Amino acid sequence: MTKYKIAVIPGDGIGPEVTNGTRMVLEAIAADSNHDFVFTEWLAGGIAIDATGEPLPAATIAGCRKSDAVLLGAVGGPQWDTLPGDKRPERALLGLRGELGLYANIRPAVLHQALASACPLHPQIAARGIDIVFVRELTGGIYFGERGRRDTADGQQAYDTEAYNVTEVERIARTGFEMAMKRNRKLTSVDKANVLESSRLWRETVIKVAADYPEVQLDHLYVDNASMQLIRRPDDFDVVVTTNMFGDILSDEAAMITGSIGMLPSASLGAPGTPGMYEPIHGSAPDIAGLDRANPLAAILSAAMMLRYSFDLKSEADRIEMAVAKVLADGYRTGDIYQQSINEDKQQLIGTKRMSELVAEAL
Ligand code: NAD
Repeated sequence: MTKYKIAVIPGDGIGPEVTNGTRMVLEAIAADSNHDFVFTEWLAGGIAIDATGEPLPAATIAGCRKSDAVLLGAVGGPQWDTLPGDKRPERALLGLRGELGLYANIRPAVLHQALASACPLHPQIAARGIDIVFVRELTGGIYFGERGRRDTADGQQAYDTEAYNVTEVERIARTGFEMAMKRNRKLTSVDKANVLESSRLWRETVIKVAADYPEVQLDHLYVDNASMQLIRRPDDFDVVVTTNMFGDILSDEAAMITGSIGMLPSASLGAPGTPGMYEPIHGSAPDIAGLDRANPLAAILSAAMMLRYSFDLKSEADRIEMAVAKVLADGYRTGDIYQQSINEDKQQLIGTKRMSELVAEAL
């Protein structure tokens, strides 16, 4: 029996509800396979501030480092919004990324056929399907570059600097190529090389790395064009690799065209052999916390990514994804994906716990 240690950080708001549902699904996988998932729970976010005064206690970092992977619910809530920036719950996310060296953010954008009517694109485009993986650089670029304010003859000026070095681009490019090798062997690198020097280095470096992946078809798009093509021909994309800021914006655009925020998983990965972190892209949804109304599927699909990328359990990951597709095809919906006026008789409105149970049963 293979043992996998999973550090669970339920966090705030709907975090505990969706991570509980996810544990239920992972336990069902363990029950009929040769794998043992050992869970330990750790504090982070607002709940950690209340208990220890810190959004990311040292014990949590140590617990995550000793695990094979981390499952995170969500952090944050209005009761902590007035705290200074470095004491806020969201600090825990940046802290975990830094402490675990998570430099690649992986976000699939998949349009589930059962939810195709929720896609805001033209039905003919939606009918062709959407199945893209975004690989976003997470620890460099303009969000981490030199910034400040200075006085000029024309008044105060503020600046933020986009800077990338070859090592940073190489490692994220490799993550993109490796991902493409596991999929349809097509990689689109998004930059702004017609204007930005940092993008020109990005492009040169991606082209150099491509020599190690001759099977992958590589193309390059400027970010403004990429944002248009995602809407015009989303089915042409397989894997997209891009910078921290462009990835932030484009992956939200892709999230929008694939339906509800409650459906979208993500992974943050570091060097091979180190624990990855898996989390739904949504926040703590304080407006529905504790009401059994949260959609647990983004968290459950994040666990499928954990099995695939951290544990190399491909068929178990497939089983979870197929179970989710089946439950949706059977018409079960949480409130966020329940569509009034569309086939109401074929949809059944259910809560977080029931949705998790149904996925576990459908495995
Ligand atoms: P949010 O994602 O929490 O909620 C936005 C809207 O989507 C709300 O109406 C919410 O009810 C709904 N929603 C979100 N997830 C859902 C789910 N699984 N099922 C059904 N409906 C869902 O974003 P927000 O309201 O901007 O932020 C709330 C708090 O979460 C803030 O404190 C914010 O800082 C934090 N946040 C945390 C993370 C994270 O932990 N990774 C990410 C984003 C925001």
